[in-house]
Amino acid sequence: MTSMLRIALAVLSGLAGLFALYLIQTTGRIPYEKAFELGAVTLLLGITLLSTVWEGLRAPKDGAASAAPAAEAPASPESSAEPVQSEISKVLGLLKQHAEANEAFSGVLDRANSELHESLKAQQVRVIISYLMIENDKMRARTSNLQANLETSQRQIEKLKSHLANAEAQGLSDPLTGLKNRRGFDVVLASQVANARSATQPLCLIIADIDHFKAINDRYGHPTGDDVLKWFAKILSSNVKGRDTVARYGGEEFAIVMPATSVENASKVAQQIKAQLETQFWQKPGAPNTMLRVTASFGVAQLIDAEGTSGLISRADAKLYEAKQGGRNRVAA
Ligand code: GH3
Ligand code: MG
Ligand code: MG
Repeated sequence: MTSMLRIALAVLSGLAGLFALYLIQTTGRIPYEKAFELGAVTLLLGITLLSTVWEGLRAPKDGAASAAPAAEAPASPESSAEPVQSEISKVLGLLKQHAEANEAFSGVLDRANSELHESLKAQQVRVIISYLMIENDKMRARTSNLQANLETSQRQIEKLKSHLANAEAQGLSDPLTGLKNRRGFDVVLASQVANARSATQPLCLIIADIDHFKAINDRYGHPTGDDVLKWFAKILSSNVKGRDTVARYGGEEFAIVMPATSVENASKVAQQIKAQLETQFWQKPGAPNTMLRVTASFGVAQLIDAEGTSGLISRADAKLYEAKQGGRNRVAA
């Protein structure tokens, strides 16, 4: 609209200039000088307007009056755009490849999804079960290891307890006869004295000593003496009840602790043993013709209220001495 207005004004200015020249040539209507100046100015104005319009027509048709001149545009578009176009082509190629790869991957996922879709729940269950089985195996391995360690520890504890019990038993028993030794005897006697006191039951002690044992050693040798000791120990044990305790008190001295037994009954047991010894002979193993008559002397005492273990032992020992002094192979109570 602005260009059209400028063209119209230019045309009007030109016509005004021509009309002014016409008036100038027409004599007598206005002064010459003024008419000439008016016509020149009007013509100049018309030329200026035409020039402006002409520039406007040469400008871009978007009508921007401040459009950049042609000289400021890229001088050589093809030369500068070529590497950019190449890079853009590369980028586009890469994007295309990426898109194709994505498309392919997407296609794989779509296919997998469509394939899994029907058995999705079952597959999930399988995955979960597999996971649980793996975890269960791990836990079972850990539990198994723990259990194995616990069992090993338990076996070691049982072994130690057994060793301790064996050591304790060995410490209280006589290796030759298998009977309790002096320490074992002391433990049992103390315990039985306490029981007898609390239960107000009689308690008897027999001390048996093999007669002239030294002569057996001297005549047949120490190993034969050992064998006689083992044989004698069996005879003692075979003549007592389960509640009684037979012990090897010393070298060839033995003791029998008899709870809930009166001195009369204990004496009977001693007499019984004495009688058995009188009827039996010790026979040398592998040499049946080698036989020995072995006798023993017995001292019997019953616990009295005023004494402890040592008092009971002393009195039984005194009775043994009495039996020895009485001629051996006898019972003193
Ligand atoms: P008594 O009738 O007065 O008891 O006489 P004894 O010979 O039996 O008593 P004595 O005390 O004189 O001798 C005991 C012998 O017992 C001496 C010892 O060498 C022997 N003796 C002690 N312990 C053992 C043993 O473990 N094995 C053997 N073979 N002999 C032993
Ligand atoms: Mg003796
Ligand atoms: Mg003796």
